Amino acid sequence: MASPDTIIHRNYWLDEALAQETPRDDAPPLDGDRRADVVIVGGGYTGLWTAIDLKTREPSLDVVLIERDICGWGASGRNAGYLLNLWAKFATMKRRFGRDEAIAIGRAVDQGIEELIQFCDDNGIDAEIRRHGWLMAATRPQHDGNWPAMIDDLARHQITPYEELSGAEIKARWGLTGILAGMLDRTAGHLQPAKLVRGLRRVALERGVTIHEHTSLTGLERRRPPVVRTDHGSIKTDKVVIAMNAWGARLPELRRFIMVTGYANAMTAPQPERLQETGFADGPCVNDSYNLINSLRPTAGGRVLFGKPGTALALGGHVDASFEDDTARLLDADRRRQELDPLMPGLEAAFAWSGPIDRSRDGLPVFGPLPGSPDIVHATGFSGDGVGPCRLAGKVLTSLVLETPDELTALGLVRPPDPEFPPEPVRWIGTRLVRRAAGKIDLADRDNGRVGAVTTRLGKLIAAGVADTEAGPKESPSGS
Ligand SMILES: Cc1cc2nc3c(=O)[nH]c(=O)nc-3n(C[C@H](O)[C@H](O)[C@H](O)COP(=O)(O)OP(=O)(O)OC[C@H]3O[C@@H](n4cnc5c(N)ncnc54)[C@H](O)[C@@H]3O)c2cc1C
Repeated sequence: MASPDTIIHRNYWLDEALAQETPRDDAPPLDGDRRADVVIVGGGYTGLWTAIDLKTREPSLDVVLIERDICGWGASGRNAGYLLNLWAKFATMKRRFGRDEAIAIGRAVDQGIEELIQFCDDNGIDAEIRRHGWLMAATRPQHDGNWPAMIDDLARHQITPYEELSGAEIKARWGLTGILAGMLDRTAGHLQPAKLVRGLRRVALERGVTIHEHTSLTGLERRRPPVVRTDHGSIKTDKVVIAMNAWGARLPELRRFIMVTGYANAMTAPQPERLQETGFADGPCVNDSYNLINSLRPTAGGRVLFGKPGTALALGGHVDASFEDDTARLLDADRRRQELDPLMPGLEAAFAWSGPIDRSRDGLPVFGPLPGSPDIVHATGFSGDGVGPCRLAGKVLTSLVLETPDELTALGLVRPPDPEFPPEPVRWIGTRLVRRAAGKIDLADRDNGRVGAVTTRLGKLIAAGVADTEAGPKESPSGS
């Protein structure tokens, strides 16, 4: 049985993907000064989709992508692989942009997901995509109840990805116990995230994108044309794409738009017989409804991946080493037994790792130019739901770079980085207080206890539920 001491802290997904690349060569770092038509900073889904789209639409463009480590080192190579649309955030989108615009955004993300799947098929990327759905589960009586309104609201607009399931149905289908009720998004799926991002890297290279790995952005001259400074060189360019995810918080224009929080994942040893017997081998990705939400999904290799928010929190947008090993809360055996055992007993981590989430205040991403710099565009604030939406981001950023306005650049997500969080240190202190309150409410829910009025009010700031994320989405990738 694995204990925290015996767990290997490394990213299982990325190791697995890299092991299949033979021979594997990192792209050479940038050494010297050069020119390019477009420079993309960041080798995750956002940067690579944009690079591929640019070369597809304008093959003669000189597109250079710089990545400070290797492509896939960031969130794209280490996430939980939930492939989700944005319908669970419909209420927030409606309030922010109006009903028609919310529908347009949701449909654009849906289309992006279909294109992602088709792209993998067309380009020989085996990202282990399984469309087995996404289950939002209530495991405590306090958690049951706020999704029928959302399902009805969407159905009024002929949007019907969801079905309600009883605890008994869930147990019969996938052997998951202790669930009182659930909402299944039949259109969702899961995938091996690192195989997707490494596949995109391969295609980008095949299409003529120049990639420099082990090359860090060290300075950005916001003039026209902009200049990208790196550790050993510089690039004068017409356009810059910032695809740095949480690390984008180092740019003053984005710092107050996102709050960077940690999230942890763990992978069990293979247990294919058990998963086959229960039906979970073909099961959905699952979230429970705690504030510090638990996640659970099968892998194509017969393992189970589970996850939980960590404790790392960036002060002033500084994403430090604490995000690389932020697994303590996930590996707290007592908490796990109480929260995850009811669903699937005996989950033990063989591998565990963590990473930063670029959480925006409304839980929705922003695409567009950096304020005051029309030649520098970015996509930021995926808030733990980026696997599907990054496909849309790539298309939007491409049209912005090529200055070809279309129906996607007209979407509400193309907006200034707003609303903002309060300045530091208020943001950091406030977030810690809110997270602590949310954790206390979880414990009370779990143990049928009670919390005081102040804790309740603070906790509400983190967890307004699936149907209403205005006050801030739950602390989870794909927890909406
Ligand atoms: C643990 C975890 C679990 C998650 N689970 C899910 C999930 O199940 N479903 C879902 O939809 N989303 C999930 N997410 C979120 C999702 O992974 C991200 O939204 C998505 O990968 C963002 O892609 P990106 O390309 O914008 O960022 P990234 O993949 O993070 O890429 C940014 C890149 O920029 C590079 N970079 C940073 N600084 C510099 C610099 N100075 N110079 C050059 N390069 C730099 C980084 O090394 C990194 O590779 C999860 C995230 C984490 C951390």
